[in-house]
Amino acid sequence: MYQDSSSSRLPPCPTTSGANPYAAPQAALEAPPLPLEPGQYAPCPRCGCTYADRLKRTFWGGRLGPKMFTHVRCRNCQSRYNGRTGGWNTGNIWFYVLVLIPVEVTAILGFIFVLIAIIAFLLR
Ligand SMILES: [Zn+2]
Repeated sequence: MYQDSSSSRLPPCPTTSGANPYAAPQAALEAPPLPLEPGQYAPCPRCGCTYADRLKRTFWGGRLGPKMFTHVRCRNCQSRYNGRTGGWNTGNIWFYVLVLIPVEVTAILGFIFVLIAIIAFLLR
């Protein structure tokens, strides 16, 4: 029943698990002996690892933000980046925090205001 969770759940990145970390990673990229599809997300912009896990929640975007920008975390170096484009999500995060959150808050406050107005109208 013993299972090595560190190797079965989080396999090492094929680009860095080899003997020589500076060797060209073609062989590992062509046929990595790992269960998860490596082509699912774009390679990490920092270390080139093709294994990443999708983030379901982040402090800046809740559940919606990481979903919108395909926010993933590299299994090798823990970098967070855009799994669709292979670039950093920094600009997208700023856009989300500075534009979308104020818009959402305004919409929610407007909704609450309308709700209070309706209640006030009914209770007059
Ligand atoms: Zn990485």
